[in-house]
Amino acid sequence: MKRNTKAGLTRREFVKTVGLAGLAAGTGASQAMAAPEPQAGAKAATVPKRKLGKTGAEVSILNLGGMFDTINNQLLLKQARKWGVTYWDTAESYGNGLSEEGFGRFFARNPGARQEIFLVTKLVPKGGNLTERLEKSLKRLQTDHVDLFFIHAICGIDEMTPAIKDWAAAMKKAGKFKNFGFSTHTSMEDCLAGAAKLDWIDAVMMTYNFRLMHTPKMQEAVNACVKAGVGLVAMKTQGGGPVTCDSEAELKMAGRFLEKGFTDKQTRLKAVWENPQIASICSQMPNLTILGANVAAARDMTKLSRGDFDSLREYAQETACGYCAGCGHICLSAVGGAVPVSEVMRCLMYHQDYGEPELARLTFAGLPAEIRQRLTAVDYTQAEQACPQGLAITALMRQATEMLA
Ligand code: SF4
Repeated sequence: MKRNTKAGLTRREFVKTVGLAGLAAGTGASQAMAAPEPQAGAKAATVPKRKLGKTGAEVSILNLGGMFDTINNQLLLKQARKWGVTYWDTAESYGNGLSEEGFGRFFARNPGARQEIFLVTKLVPKGGNLTERLEKSLKRLQTDHVDLFFIHAICGIDEMTPAIKDWAAAMKKAGKFKNFGFSTHTSMEDCLAGAAKLDWIDAVMMTYNFRLMHTPKMQEAVNACVKAGVGLVAMKTQGGGPVTCDSEAELKMAGRFLEKGFTDKQTRLKAVWENPQIASICSQMPNLTILGANVAAARDMTKLSRGDFDSLREYAQETACGYCAGCGHICLSAVGGAVPVSEVMRCLMYHQDYGEPELARLTFAGLPAEIRQRLTAVDYTQAEQACPQGLAITALMRQATEMLA
């Protein structure tokens, strides 16, 4: 039987691993059976690694997003490490520190684990002293440093102020983190283009998926970052949106990929990995089923064909009106700055596409109270006219208030 080269998995093992469950909606990740254990005596297959830009670090191409109950899922952390998912991502805001605490508990109980894991945490630079908050994050993580620190969820490169630059340099010097950058779900292309011009940005994590990766603006921004040595990490790679659309193209696509041996959700990961400019994908994998499916996809070396990409493109076109492309500056300026529409859309996405109502409510609750209160009072007519995806913003903002408040 033909083996998938580096993966060490046979084609049959891979098909068995992904199973049929991928047709189901999920948490923005693959839904399938767990990755198989290697045969006794065989060399354990692992997740491949790529260099993360100028950080020089070799990181696993699949990384564990920590937006789930890490305290009560220690077994999952253990399995992720065992399968070679050795890049872990968390944030102060995930579970209000509980995600970091779960990782910290794992490091305390598993000597040697911290050295193996490329650890990332993030902070939003609003509210409280940033240094003190970083110290608290490190304490929860039970470590004296992280390998990469991100300013969390910026909406524009102007948030990378000279004060932030000085702070980052001081924290690096103090050994609190080795590398520095930011994450962004909003106006990603502009943020990336800006990062390429700042020599103190080591890495960026951004929304990036089969819907966005082929636009000239995104390709230009990614090329600029790669040229400048900025390491790139993709997130929100499933391309889910605030509206769930019934799509003939989705069924066709899912059938096509299952015949090839992987689910459409695994295919969305593979589409991103086919761009070598992307070092790693951050994926929420809150259970062993999803972790196993994504690990299997990461190990599989099968290349997507032009027809596969066409199939993804057809699906993307058919469901465009259910996807928020993160071009938040457009709708924000159309409502005079009254509501960060794209942030609310992200909450709806967690609810509708990820099937995570609690996460959706928590993220929504993190928006300032005055914004949540004015959500249904704002006139979105101009925003709807300007929205390139044609989203029904008025109805969706009402829906967010009813479902998430
Ligand atoms: S303009 Fe439309 S697609 Fe862009 S962020 Fe706003 S709602 Fe989303």
